[in-house]
Amino acid sequence: MGCVVYPVLMLSDRSVVAVARCPSYEPESVAVAVRTVLELSGLLDRLKACRKILLKPNLLSPRIPEDAVTTHPSVVEAVGVTVARFSSEILIGDSPPFAGENPSRYATLLQKTGMSDVAHRLGAKVVRFEDQVVQVVNPASKLYRSFEVGSVVREVDVIVNIAKLKNHALTRITGAVKNLFGCVPGIRKGLFHVRAADDREVFAQMLVDLAASIGNTIHVMDAVIAMEGEGPSAGQPRQVGIILASADPIALDAVASTIVGFEPMSVDTTRLGDAQGLGCGRLDSIEVVGANIDELRVSGWLPSSGTNDWTRIPAPLRKLLKRQLLAVPVFRRDRCIGCGDCVQICAAKALTVGRPPTLDAARCIRCYCCHEICSSRAIDLRYGTLARLLGIHRLMLHTGQ
Ligand code: SF4
Ligand code: SF4
Repeated sequence: MGCVVYPVLMLSDRSVVAVARCPSYEPESVAVAVRTVLELSGLLDRLKACRKILLKPNLLSPRIPEDAVTTHPSVVEAVGVTVARFSSEILIGDSPPFAGENPSRYATLLQKTGMSDVAHRLGAKVVRFEDQVVQVVNPASKLYRSFEVGSVVREVDVIVNIAKLKNHALTRITGAVKNLFGCVPGIRKGLFHVRAADDREVFAQMLVDLAASIGNTIHVMDAVIAMEGEGPSAGQPRQVGIILASADPIALDAVASTIVGFEPMSVDTTRLGDAQGLGCGRLDSIEVVGANIDELRVSGWLPSSGTNDWTRIPAPLRKLLKRQLLAVPVFRRDRCIGCGDCVQICAAKALTVGRPPTLDAARCIRCYCCHEICSSRAIDLRYGTLARLLGIHRLMLHTGQ
C-alpha cells in the first residue's frame, strides 16, 4: 500500500454552481442538461486537459435506477459521452459495502443499476476500489488525517463525482461531499461509522476531511428524481427535475439542500466544510448560474426520521438522553429476506442473524449502517415513546425546513 500526502483542495475566488432543468431521464434531455452545467460552471474547459478520468457515481446497492437509490445511468452516460471527446481512458467505479468486496456481487450490482451497459457503450473500464488500496494523508485535516482509498482515485487526472441527491439519516442529505465516502473501500467505511457514531459532527468532519484529502475532483449531481423520506435507500423517489455541477462540493450541496428546503448550514458537512475552507456554504456568496433556483424549490420535502440536530438540546442533557431520543432500527419480518448483510456490516455487533435479525439495543450505536445497506427496505427507523411524548422527534424532523 502506497502513501500519498495531499494538500487541502484550494478553491478559486468565488464558488460557481451551475443548475439546469432536466424534466426526465430521457437521454436527449439529460445530455443537454449535463453539457449545459459543465459549460456554465467552467468545468468543461478543465476536463479538456484531462486524459484519464474516473466517473464515480453513487452505487450504494443493487437497485434498479427507478428506485432512485443510485445515480441514474443516463446521467453517468451523458457525462461519459461528454468527456469521451477528449479523454483517452474512462473508468467507472464505486465501492458499495459488500458488493465491492465480492467481484460477482459487484457485477450483479453494475448490471442492476444499469452501469455495466453504460460502461459497455462508452468503452469504459469498470474498476473496483478494493483491488488496490492507497493511503492518502492530509496534514491540514481537522480530525482525520489519513484515509485508505482505492488507488485508482489517485491514479486518474480527475474524478467526476456524480452524486445522487437523497436524504441521509446521519448527514441530513447525501450529496457531493458524502458521495466521496465511496472512495474508501468496502466495509472499511463501517469503522469510521463506529469511531464517529457518538457524535454526528465527528462523522461529518470525517467526510469533510476525506473530501479535502482527495482533492482532484469535480462534482455533478443527479437531482432529476431525488429521494426524500428514509434515504439513502428506503425513501421515496421525488421529482426535483434538475442537474447541477460545481468544482466546489460544499457549494453544490448548499444549493441542492436549499432547493429541497434545508437551510444549508443545518447540514453538518456544509457548515463544517465552509468553516474549514473546503468550499462555500453561504448561499449569498455562491454564484448560481443557469436556472433560477427560486423557481425550482420543492415544497413539503420529507426529512429522514434519523435526522437529529443535537445542538438544539442543552449540553448536560445530551449524553443522558441521546440513546433514548435517537431513532432505533426496527426490522420488518414481512420484507426481510434473511441475507445477513445488516448483521455483517454492524461493526458494533448489535445484531444476531435471523429472519429478521434481532437487535441488542444496548449495543446499538445508531450509526444506521444496517438501514443503509438493506436492499429489501426491511429496516425502519423509529423513535421511542419518550421522544414522541416530548415531541422532540418533531423538533428534530423539522429543523431547517
Ligand atoms: S433486514 Fe435487510 S439486510 Fe438484514 S437480513 Fe433482512 S433483508 Fe438482509
Ligand atoms: S444495529 Fe444498525 S444502527 Fe445499530 S449499531 Fe448496528 S448497524 Fe448501527
